[in-house]
Amino acid sequence: MEDIEKEFQCVLYSLQDFLLYQQEQGVEGLPIKPAHPTQDKAQLLEEIRTELGNCKRCKLHSYRRNIVFGSGNPEAQLVFVGEGPGGDEDIQGKPFVGPAGQLLTKIINSINLAREDVYIANIIKCRPPQNRNPEPDEIKACEPFLIKQLDAIKPKIICALGTFAAQTLLETGEKISSLRGRFMPYRNSRLIATFHPAFLLRNPQRKRDVWEDMKMIRKEYFS
Ligand code: URA
Repeated sequence: MEDIEKEFQCVLYSLQDFLLYQQEQGVEGLPIKPAHPTQDKAQLLEEIRTELGNCKRCKLHSYRRNIVFGSGNPEAQLVFVGEGPGGDEDIQGKPFVGPAGQLLTKIINSINLAREDVYIANIIKCRPPQNRNPEPDEIKACEPFLIKQLDAIKPKIICALGTFAAQTLLETGEKISSLRGRFMPYRNSRLIATFHPAFLLRNPQRKRDVWEDMKMIRKEYFS
């Protein structure tokens, strides 16, 4: 008999011994774990929310009314990432529910999707006072949770909304006008940046650019 066959037979005998021993000990079955466990994404998100808890990891906790964790479809193939909650979001505890959020809903609908199809989150989860830009220590404390959310959802596409989200996720100082309009690799997804809906409310002439970006997203999403 070839060496390899002998070795295989040995392994089988050892396995048989092991199973017989387990049976003697009263074991009636073995837990079967799939090689690549497919964990429920909704459950993973809940676990991340639990880990976040009543977060006091940065100074923003003392100003907020509600943590804005993120909302939408845990199975989403498209995730939008904004900057941080504004006043309406702080009150409702949900992202993009104010005027910029209403425009975002229209943008999502324009590519034949509903808000329920996508997931929406922000770089930071608590409203900064006077809606100022988030500070580095606040991002450092909060971004790991966003990354965990993205890793749980594993979307095909991430759309960074505005300068702040794009620069933070891509770790670059490049301007949004040069970052937008193309897909870039980000973790296991493809990331595209576009103008923030709040910016569009002030600069409606840039809607044309956003429409171009959305057409790219639609093509990628449905391909
Ligand atoms: N602007 C953002 O960047 N995020 C929100 O959730 C609302 C407004």
